Amino acid sequence: MTTENETTADAPTSVAFRTEVQQLLHILAHSLYTDREIFLRELISNASDALHRVQFEMLTNREVRDADAELAIRLSADKDARTITISDTGIGMTREELIENLGTIAQSSARAFVAAAKEAQRPSSEIIGQFGVGFYSVFMVADKVTVTSRSYQAEAEAACWESTGGNTFTITHAEKAERGTTIVLHLKDDADEFANDWKLEQIVKKHSNFVAFPIYSGERRLNEQQALWRKPAREVKAEQYPEFYRQLTMDFDEPLLHLHLSTDVPVDLHTILFVPAKRERGILERRIEGKIKLYSRKILIQEDANDLLPNFFRFLEGLVDSEDLPLNVSREMVQSSPVLQRIRKTLTGRLFKELNELAEKDADKYAAFWKEFGPFIKEGLATDYEFRDELTKLLRFNTTKSGENLATLADYKSRMLEGQTEIYYVQANDLEAARRSPHLDPLEARGLEVLLMHDLMDGFMLGNFREYEGLKLRNIDDASLELPGEAPASAVQVSDEDFARLCARVKAVLGEEKVTSVRASELLRENPARLVTEKNTPGREMQRIQQMLGRETKIEPRVLELNRGHALIANLAGRNSANSDDPVVAAVAEQLYDNALLLEGLLTNPAAMVPRLQALLEAAARP
Ligand code: ADP
Ligand code: MG
Repeated sequence: MTTENETTADAPTSVAFRTEVQQLLHILAHSLYTDREIFLRELISNASDALHRVQFEMLTNREVRDADAELAIRLSADKDARTITISDTGIGMTREELIENLGTIAQSSARAFVAAAKEAQRPSSEIIGQFGVGFYSVFMVADKVTVTSRSYQAEAEAACWESTGGNTFTITHAEKAERGTTIVLHLKDDADEFANDWKLEQIVKKHSNFVAFPIYSGERRLNEQQALWRKPAREVKAEQYPEFYRQLTMDFDEPLLHLHLSTDVPVDLHTILFVPAKRERGILERRIEGKIKLYSRKILIQEDANDLLPNFFRFLEGLVDSEDLPLNVSREMVQSSPVLQRIRKTLTGRLFKELNELAEKDADKYAAFWKEFGPFIKEGLATDYEFRDELTKLLRFNTTKSGENLATLADYKSRMLEGQTEIYYVQANDLEAARRSPHLDPLEARGLEVLLMHDLMDGFMLGNFREYEGLKLRNIDDASLELPGEAPASAVQVSDEDFARLCARVKAVLGEEKVTSVRASELLRENPARLVTEKNTPGREMQRIQQMLGRETKIEPRVLELNRGHALIANLAGRNSANSDDPVVAAVAEQLYDNALLLEGLLTNPAAMVPRLQALLEAAARP
């Protein structure tokens, strides 16, 4: 920042905006916006923040200026002068703070905003509030803005910031007796529609109706008298929830679910929580996970009270308000309060209940929830013991019998066959690959259902979640897998001697890096071969996670099982016995191994197979 003329006394000091701000202002002043009215929302949101902050300050500080002033926001319009005035009794700003807060912006925010605005042909003004550059939106409608402010600090004097939205602003001494901030907008020629009390009221209702402090126009209060979350749920109209959600989060997708709880016993608790529609918002969104605001006796004490819910519920948004919480500014004190623990328990219990009800009442909506937030639930099972049973109920899987639907573990259990004592699952990198897995063949032949696990988080979950109601979860690529029921393997077409010779040859060709042993399969029917894992091979679930994350992983040697009933294996054994140096046998052995890896989604460089395939094709095409 450069100060052009260091002056004394009351002459205005002219200060250049930081470059990023200049760019931003240029875009704001010279673009056409469809919804310019949101400048008011931004100013009210700043006023409300300032009020929250002074309220918070007063909890511990007895020296705050005008401690008795009503915490409120006032609006007025002057048609003839073409001005709007918005004032608050919030925390206020000192001269230095005016320069700092209204002259600079976080460079990253500004850059992101400028980039996004350039991208969009007609920059939506919705972008503005999301980049922490909200104040500057006034220059969409005003060609001159004056901000007069007096800080809460006893010794601070009032100061005035003024700018016409060009490259500079000025700072002067000002006369203002009361604490807070007053902003006067001199409207542009094409923006005089806003110099109208009725219009301002309309905008407040639309964008700022649920602000926690009164917004007055003259004597009239424009916004809701009572905080929505303090009303009994039956008094709230259904459409008020999405509205409230939008104003709270700036997320324009309707939430998937809301929970409204307003009770006095056993603990005083007023809360509205939302499950958003999407896990991640648009590219413009700065944060991915939700925020819970915590109010104690109507005072905002934490912006992001992330210990109010278990970690796996961190995608929820909303607020919690309780009269029973200690009014204390220390986070640790709040955290260790037994009331907080009670609230946490109540909320978590209710959320599980709501989610289960959603699943019962609206399967499609639940499926949408599961698609977005299933990974959080699985993460919960990987890390949390306290809520294990409740989390388990929320689990859903694609299975070999569920078709396009999702199944619960209870569904699976109810469909288990006689003699079945385990829950079977197969892992793959995606659903299609899971459905094509060579391991499924013997289970399908017996009518056994298999969970198709194809999500990154499944691997994490399985690290800690291996049993459901006494039934073990079993990976069907286990070398020692034994299946209940009958499904005889297809008739053996190769002599013991030829087969033993083939196994030895294949093992020699592949080497110990790839296979620990080569043996006959007791289970395969349709597929010539598969790779199985000896029980003690460490962490193959973890290995798959590494692989799904695109990390280099070493493929551990496995057991290669060959299907003695398969024509390919029988012919190969014949060829091998006829000529123990046959290069075709070696090439087929390597290819069978690669095919098995490929089907499991574990082959890292499929192109490397091409020269070998070429050689095999040549052999096949030979007359
Ligand atoms: P944000 O609100 O995301 O921080 P803004 O551009 O809306 O970004 O506001 C910039 C800063 O200016 C605020 O963080 C705050 O410090 C200060 N500010 C704006 N309006 C007021 C106000 N009415 N009272 C006190 N401080 C304010
Ligand atoms: Mg703001």
